[in-house]
Amino acid sequence: MLRSIGAVATEVRLPGHLDGLDGLIIPGGESTTLSRLMSLYDLRQPVADMAAAGRAVWGTCAGMIMLASEITEADPIPLAVMDVGVQRNAFGRQVDSFEQDLTVAGLGPDPYHAIFIRAPVIIRVGKSVEVLAALSDGRPVAVRQDSLLATSFHPELTADARIHRYFLAMAGGPPFDADAPLIETPRVR
Ligand code: GLN
Repeated sequence: MLRSIGAVATEVRLPGHLDGLDGLIIPGGESTTLSRLMSLYDLRQPVADMAAAGRAVWGTCAGMIMLASEITEADPIPLAVMDVGVQRNAFGRQVDSFEQDLTVAGLGPDPYHAIFIRAPVIIRVGKSVEVLAALSDGRPVAVRQDSLLATSFHPELTADARIHRYFLAMAGGPPFDADAPLIETPRVR
């Protein structure tokens, strides 16, 4: 998705891979695994420092859990860089995954089709955190705090690149243009 919108994307597995990056996406997956591997490979402090220094960091789903100040369980251990509280697996088991059209602030009028896969939800929002999107029941699922972005859902699974372009703008890329085509390149899954 990043490459389809003109960004140079590279994988981060070790602290040295963070050097020179304009932004970092902590992906979805399994936050207990992310937490353990980030400890094992000494990534916790460098990523927390990157966030504290105002470099752009975006957490999607399990990545959002990692950014939180606190979560409802003792494990995993989040990085505690974003002033939100998060509940893991808030909608139940894998079979309870779902899709919902959202209105996302800043993305223009078209609804954003969000895919939630055993997703977390935000249960506390700090004063400096802006809610960009919420479910129909009001629970926030996309938030921003300065250079930090968090989404409960998986924007990389749609063909709509708006949230990726929004994040590139946060990372110093071209300003977000809500009038650009929603779909950059046809994608096959
Ligand atoms: N359920 C996973 C967790 O708690 C998150 C799932 C996902 O990233 N899609 O870490």
